[in-house]
Amino acid sequence: MTITHLHFIKNQRVAPSDGRSIPLIDPSDGTEFAQIARGNSEDVNRAVAAARAAFGEQGNGPWGKLAPMERGRLLAKLAALVDKHRDELVKLESRDAGKPTRTALADVTALLRYCEFYSGAADKFYGDVIPYQSIFAVLVFREPHGVTGQIVPWNYPVQIMGRSCMPALAAGNTCVVKPSEDACLSILRVAELAAEAGFPPGAINVVTGYGHEAGAALSGHPDVDHISFTGSPDVGKLVARAAGEHHHPVTLELGGKSPQIVFADADLDAALPVIVGGIIQNCGQTCVAGSRVLVERPIYEQVIELLATKFRSLVAAPAIRDPDMGPLIRATQLKRVQDFVALAERDGIQVAARGTIAPDAPRGGFYHPAVLLRDVPHDHRLAQDELFGPVLSAMAFDTEDEAVRIANNTRFGLAAALWTRDGARQLRVARKLVCGQVFVNNFGAGGGVELPLGGVKHSGYGREKGMEALHGVTRVKTIVIKHD
Ligand code: NAD
Repeated sequence: MTITHLHFIKNQRVAPSDGRSIPLIDPSDGTEFAQIARGNSEDVNRAVAAARAAFGEQGNGPWGKLAPMERGRLLAKLAALVDKHRDELVKLESRDAGKPTRTALADVTALLRYCEFYSGAADKFYGDVIPYQSIFAVLVFREPHGVTGQIVPWNYPVQIMGRSCMPALAAGNTCVVKPSEDACLSILRVAELAAEAGFPPGAINVVTGYGHEAGAALSGHPDVDHISFTGSPDVGKLVARAAGEHHHPVTLELGGKSPQIVFADADLDAALPVIVGGIIQNCGQTCVAGSRVLVERPIYEQVIELLATKFRSLVAAPAIRDPDMGPLIRATQLKRVQDFVALAERDGIQVAARGTIAPDAPRGGFYHPAVLLRDVPHDHRLAQDELFGPVLSAMAFDTEDEAVRIANNTRFGLAAALWTRDGARQLRVARKLVCGQVFVNNFGAGGGVELPLGGVKHSGYGREKGMEALHGVTRVKTIVIKHD
């Protein structure tokens, strides 16, 4: 198959310099359906040079010199085009990443919201004047970094591109995106739409390819001023090290093992559907997936029974049918999840319930049923590691302090939810949880674009989303003027 999808550099489709490509596999049936460009360091150099030219050496390039309100207007035009091409983007994302249609639609809608939010924010984010000694005027500028790199995973391609790129662009930076080799078509299409909206050449560039090639070239590039990386903790370390060679700042959005804490006074009718959705969304391949459920002992058996009934009804099937769950992204991910479940069974952990795979699902697809495990020991790998699959680990607790201790007892700290009607406890527990987001009586995996997101510990550092993201994609310059 010839290369069907080339890089996008300077508002043009560009072939990889060495002509190599990577097959894209449809996770729903395991067949190859496209060939993307296999980017190398030369391709990355071209994209970074284009982004530098669009920013300008002193921020005086075609993008760098635009007034904030002009950047905002272009982002609004992009939002309108995303809206117009919503169905097309949903189809691309659904096939490429194996997402049920409604999940892909939610992702494209999130992209639209990122465009809208940062369109509005572009001319409302500004510096400060500091009252210092009377003979000085102190001005604090918020300046764009310049050329920014966005390394994006396969689980939410279009959404994470929106999350990383839109604030960077709103603040005046230019972008070089390296999507995942497993799912990238929607991102290429959005870059094309940006060109159609009137973004100048070089403002948004996309180089596809493998992480250890194009990704490594981008994260270690001397002329990339900031990197936003979303992906696994191990690769996050590599990216931070590579950027650190040039003392370039990095935002790391990494994995999680998020707890759902259910107290005995919780409204179970409200909680349980959200808890199930929080683990099966995108087949468990979500950074903030609620993959542990901690239940207060008096209601533990009742909750297990209710969850088990629901899990038995869940069906994994081809994405196009908009099932409860689509496939996992690839064969190695399927094997990883299968191995974890086998490990649990070998170690005597009880499977409380298992969903099914549609009998007519293509045999080549990467399907795994939903699995509910009970009484998982807190220190077992099933309670500690990020599986990235539709597997929920349940465990009981006796006291509030114990719940907090178990919740915090992993190397991650991305998100958490607690379910209780006790108002004092809501805030008390929320404040003790060591993570970046806490949801009380709700759980918003991927929630509003307004809500700052990010982790602590091995879940990363820096924050994206909301106005907070604009701090990460700008740097402060203080100018001190003596006027007397
Ligand atoms: P991954 O780390 O394997 O890959 C992420 C991206 O990094 C891909 O584009 C990949 O090509 C690239 N990459 C790989 N090796 C690289 C290298 N040496 N140098 C530079 N780039 C490299 O992650 P994944 O499997 O694509 O995604 C799943 C992970 O992402 C999970 O751990 C998940 O929790 C995390 N994630 C986090 C968030 C968040 O917001 N915190 C959101 C989504 C996913």
